[in-house]
Amino acid sequence: MSFLEYAPAPESRAILNLRDEYGLFIDGEFRPGSGESFATISPADEKHIATIASASDADVDAAVAAARRAYEKTWSKMSGRDRGKYLFRIARLVQERARELAVAEALDNGKPIKESRDVDVPLVAAWFFYYAGWADKLDYAGLGANPQSLGVAGQVIPWNFPLLMLAWKIAPALAAGNTVVIKPAETTPLSALIFAEILQQADLPPGVVNIVTGAGATGAALVRHPDVNKVAFTGSTPVGREIAKAVAGTGKKLTLELGGKAANIVFEDAPIDQAIEGIVNGIFFNQGHVCCAGSRLLVQESIHDEVVDRLKQRLSTLRLGDPLDKNTDIGAINSREQLDRIRELSQIGEDEGAVRWSADCVIPENGFWFAPTIFTNVQASHRIARDEIFGPVLSVLTFRTPAEAIEKANNTPYGLSAGIWSDKGSRILAVADRLRAGVIWANTFNRFDPASPFGGYKESGYGREGGRHGLLAYLKGAQS
Ligand code: NAD
Repeated sequence: MSFLEYAPAPESRAILNLRDEYGLFIDGEFRPGSGESFATISPADEKHIATIASASDADVDAAVAAARRAYEKTWSKMSGRDRGKYLFRIARLVQERARELAVAEALDNGKPIKESRDVDVPLVAAWFFYYAGWADKLDYAGLGANPQSLGVAGQVIPWNFPLLMLAWKIAPALAAGNTVVIKPAETTPLSALIFAEILQQADLPPGVVNIVTGAGATGAALVRHPDVNKVAFTGSTPVGREIAKAVAGTGKKLTLELGGKAANIVFEDAPIDQAIEGIVNGIFFNQGHVCCAGSRLLVQESIHDEVVDRLKQRLSTLRLGDPLDKNTDIGAINSREQLDRIRELSQIGEDEGAVRWSADCVIPENGFWFAPTIFTNVQASHRIARDEIFGPVLSVLTFRTPAEAIEKANNTPYGLSAGIWSDKGSRILAVADRLRAGVIWANTFNRFDPASPFGGYKESGYGREGGRHGLLAYLKGAQS
């Protein structure tokens, strides 16, 4: 059901100045990789965007060696104030090239341009500005006098917020005085490679940041490299577990930001209009490819039918399609592999007896798409209530009392985030106090700010990114 027809409003791709092929960014310049290169495609139409180099073990070794040289010769010797100047310069260049980065991110990832333009890229700039401010103030971070950097950081990131995850990793590492080798996800390398051009523009000393593209084997070579002092990983729990084993006993410092299955709890006294928007934002933002997505809706039984009816109405107004169209609400699923996983788990949901409803969208012929979907009649034991689907799929469960809501919310191996919707402040505080989640939003969802630490409990990982806490992961002695 669509009340208004919108004329297409595609953002132009003319601003992109893409190369046909991208090499590895090592020691301040692009160079060929010795692994087998691969294509990055647009998930919206499966068309080729560029050919990307793949880093072999020898290339990773060269990148780590470049980072080590830069650490010894320049970066660790530079004053915090000078490091801060580089970070400010990077932040301003991100702002200058914001439109180009937003278009590249929407093209390569499949997310709607209005999200990459209004959320991802502004937050990337904000992260660099924020940590630029810390670079000359580490003595005042409550970590004792003269805190020391660790050395070379090996960082591996996922595909859901490619440039934002890069910023979360690089900004605090550089502010604290470390050098970096980072590996973007294989399906979304494009914005990291444009970012490499920004580093050249900023005149960052060669080797301070090195970007190695490739698949899991490149990431494994990086985290296992003996000359890496710090490993920071954002991605799935199974890979995080593997990395924790590889790093155990090596003396490397480790942060893991892993999966989630967040509860979004709606009490009967909640402001319903806002809650509906918050539920939609919580699970359908970025096609649900969000680690902290509110994928389990826990709604008080007395308002279940009203909430579900209104959600269906709201979802029927969302526009799915071309990520570069400024009217698009739901973009493409990032890869065929991810689409297959979402389909498989949704089928399991139906087979286990949950009731499926999908918005009536026109699905484009090419590319990877999945209509916004709600499952009702979900039991806590169902796979769709336990496994991270990482797609636009909401599982609805009910509760009668606050105690039951808390028990159900905590009944998960994860513990990354949660949401609470209620008119009553005392209830929000009492419930938040008993939820086992790293981030809890009240009467809102998916709010990010560089000053606010983010991270999980249990199988969602350990360590915090963002805020003063984000620095601790990159300094000697400090617990992150
Ligand atoms: P993934 O674990 O498959 O891949 C993440 C990255 O790890 C990629 O760059 C990949 O190439 C690399 N990799 C794969 N195998 C590796 C290995 N053996 N050693 C080293 N690196 C390896 O995850 P994904 O599918 O790209 O991302 C989705 C997952 O990321 C979800 O589970 C999501 O919840 C999680 N995530 C968490 C956060 C957070 O902050 N907690 C943020 C975003 C995404």
